[in-house]
Amino acid sequence: MIFTHDTEQALAVVVDLVNTSAATDGEEELAGLPDLRAFVERNDFSGVGELTEADLARVLGLRERFHAVFRAPDVPSAVRLINEVVGGVRTTPHLTDHDGYDWHVHFFAPGAPMGEHLAADCGMALAYVVAEGELDRLRTCEAPDCSRVLVDLSRNRCRRYCDSRTCGNRMHVAAYRARQREAVSQSPGPRPSPGGSGRDRAFAGAASLRDLPGGGSPPASPPPVG
Ligand SMILES: [Zn+2]
Ligand SMILES: [Zn+2]
Repeated sequence: MIFTHDTEQALAVVVDLVNTSAATDGEEELAGLPDLRAFVERNDFSGVGELTEADLARVLGLRERFHAVFRAPDVPSAVRLINEVVGGVRTTPHLTDHDGYDWHVHFFAPGAPMGEHLAADCGMALAYVVAEGELDRLRTCEAPDCSRVLVDLSRNRCRRYCDSRTCGNRMHVAAYRARQREAVSQSPGPRPSPGGSGRDRAFAGAASLRDLPGGGSPPASPPPVG
């Protein structure tokens, strides 16, 4: 585990929230109170009461600010954004062992409205990510037509796609097809060694294949003969 359990859980909430935005997914998935209620239920929030339009507005505002943290060009920019979130919310740190979890710290005041709850706990989770020097684990999916965000919690920081079953699988299929095309275009030559060095070479191959037909640059003139 890279971060503590509650930090990782709060980061998962941040990812889910940001990915409800049309800016990441092409579709607004927090369009009204029923959507907000579904978001609360699937993320297992504790102690959330009645939800109002004011809650929704606050959550949508937070979503923009959290998304900006993922796109922050450097650590100082991320720090500024996160400090604005956690500095602008009432926090009441307290230990809790709700729902069978071990003792951990909550930052939102008991009974706080949804927006405060999210700003305090998710904002503090993001603060810990920066404090641990792990900001580069907050990423945007590398699939070319996807802007969803992710938190890379892998040991070797190798996660590149928002979801291995959708974007990851799609990109692997594309890389596989590119390898096949490359093999065909090079035949009759030696077949590329199976396994090889993996994805990066496959992508490089795909790019060079795309560049081949009508690349735009004039062909280099052959050296004079004779
Ligand atoms: Zn908790
Ligand atoms: Zn993706």
